[in-house]
Amino acid sequence: MIKINEIYKSIQGESSKAGLPCTFIRLTYCNLRCSYCDSEYSFYDGTEMEIEEILSEIKMLECNLVEVTGGEPLFQKECLDLLKRLCDEGYEVMLETGGSLPIENVDKRVMIILDLKCPSSGMMKKNLYENAYHLKQIDEIKFVIGTKEDYQWAKEKMEEFNLYQKCSILFSTVFGELSPQTLIEWILEDNLHVRFQLQLHKYIWDPKTKGV
Ligand code: SF4
Repeated sequence: MIKINEIYKSIQGESSKAGLPCTFIRLTYCNLRCSYCDSEYSFYDGTEMEIEEILSEIKMLECNLVEVTGGEPLFQKECLDLLKRLCDEGYEVMLETGGSLPIENVDKRVMIILDLKCPSSGMMKKNLYENAYHLKQIDEIKFVIGTKEDYQWAKEKMEEFNLYQKCSILFSTVFGELSPQTLIEWILEDNLHVRFQLQLHKYIWDPKTKGV
């Protein structure tokens, strides 16, 4: 059984798949408490479901792109089985993870969006850096940047772990903390080969809206 917070269809708000229709499976629980978290409602609430029940629910949504997210989805060990089953069923599968738990055993067909938590998140010490050695070309690393210190730190980590060579890199701002314009200026000044992204859903719907 897996505790599920919500299942819904929307558009993908982040990553190189931004803008595409996507079914989201949000798992309950998170072992982190980021300063800017917008998903606190997923920390405890949810319903225990069998993998088969989850599969029939998402089948009705008729969308081939599926993202497993949280909370921290890898906190429940059955998440690995869910990811594998989704791939076996032919879905294009994404996993969004906070970067503190191992990705080593995630099915290799899954596109992983791996957060590296910057200093202003308050969760930097929880980063599991050995995950960098298990990244694949199809994966993406995400830095959510709230300050200049975060930005400098992200640049250092990209160098230290040779992240350019491993996969695509996403830079986004902490919503309401750092302006998109400022981050874009820093990126262009330094000529960084990273993808700037907005959390699209926060600009389309009210930023506090759940299930979009
Ligand atoms: S990892 Fe995600 S869900 Fe967990 S506290 Fe951080 S932002 Fe919130």
